[in-house]
Amino acid sequence: MIKENVKKILSEIPSDVTLVAAAKTRTPQEILQAIEAGVTIIGENYVKEAQSAFAVIGERCRWHFIGHLQRNKVKVAVEIFDLIETVDSLPLAVEIDKRCSQIGKVIPVLIEVNSGREQQKAGVFPEKAKGLIKETVPLKHMRIMGLMTMGPRFGDPEKARPYFVETRRLFDALKTLQLPGIEMKHLSMGMSNTYKIAIEEGATIVRVGTKLFGERDYT
Ligand SMILES: *Cc1c(COP(=O)(O)O)cnc(C)c1O
Repeated sequence: MIKENVKKILSEIPSDVTLVAAAKTRTPQEILQAIEAGVTIIGENYVKEAQSAFAVIGERCRWHFIGHLQRNKVKVAVEIFDLIETVDSLPLAVEIDKRCSQIGKVIPVLIEVNSGREQQKAGVFPEKAKGLIKETVPLKHMRIMGLMTMGPRFGDPEKARPYFVETRRLFDALKTLQLPGIEMKHLSMGMSNTYKIAIEEGATIVRVGTKLFGERDYT
């Protein structure tokens, strides 16, 4: 089933949009099936789970971190991940930069935007994104390459559209600023129920879990 699901979605999305398979709770065997069907990037929410999967799969795919990153997990995370999608504070950015400088790595990251402005959710509010990005300019072992957003979860996928539109506008505005060392190349938005809308609104990365791997026991 996983293979058919992957092939179907890959055939549906435009060739310039990248599919990240969101693999939380999935086994390395399930992940490998997705890779064999054409997935090139795996998204992981938990560093521990990623370590186990990475031990089996290694460099057969690229690894994106898409969860909430605790500062005490950064040291391990920067060793595994090719890109961290969820930078949302200066202390987190400083820790990532420090750990990367220790291992001689420059890691690409995205800034997570809390486009729904929900107090309890991760991500920087849209109006604070520019300030955070400017503060990270001196950090030489971290390279900002775009934005990521979750958007609020609704039953109706159409309700996500305004949040994708707002994030895309922010993305375009930041691109125009041409801040030193900052690229606005990747816009990561949309999940199983909203990826089509996200692509219509300019996503270059979609993160899909359920539609590839089936329902999860928990979310
Ligand atoms: C789980 C998850 C997804 C995928 O969600 P589905 O609804 O299973 O497609 C995408 N992005 C993030 C950050 C996630 O945690």
